Amino acid sequence: MPELPLTGGCLCGGVRFEVTEPLVSASYCHCTRCQRRTGTAASAQARIVPGSLRISAGEELVREFQPPDGFPKVFCSRCGSALWSRNPDVADALGVRLGAFDGDPEVRPRSRQFVAYAAAWEPIPDDGLPRYPERRPPDA
Ligand SMILES: [Zn+2]
Ligand SMILES: [Zn+2]
Repeated sequence: MPELPLTGGCLCGGVRFEVTEPLVSASYCHCTRCQRRTGTAASAQARIVPGSLRISAGEELVREFQPPDGFPKVFCSRCGSALWSRNPDVADALGVRLGAFDGDPEVRPRSRQFVAYAAAWEPIPDDGLPRYPERRPPDA
């Protein structure tokens, strides 16, 4: 069991948050939106128990971008760091970016989704994780 709360924040330190329940699961996303917003080949994120994240500092810096075809992306308006995505249909169901956590978040990514759109310049690691060409099924 991880030591709770898990803590994290953005690059400039303005936004800080706490997660008070163990993370539910984690996965990689290879979609084009994630490539754009991270500048990398894939984004790793964890599902949280809905309602278990609290912003402890810098709430005024938190902004979100709503892509036309995806969930709102929440970030720090001062440094641009990606923080989490938000499912508008399920209150407080967030996908927190693993890189935003301070320490070991204890969960490990267990699947890769949207691999049909994977970056041409980085082979998908041969790590044995299930790969989904499009969105991961809800129970995966
Ligand atoms: Zn920041
Ligand atoms: Zn994505």
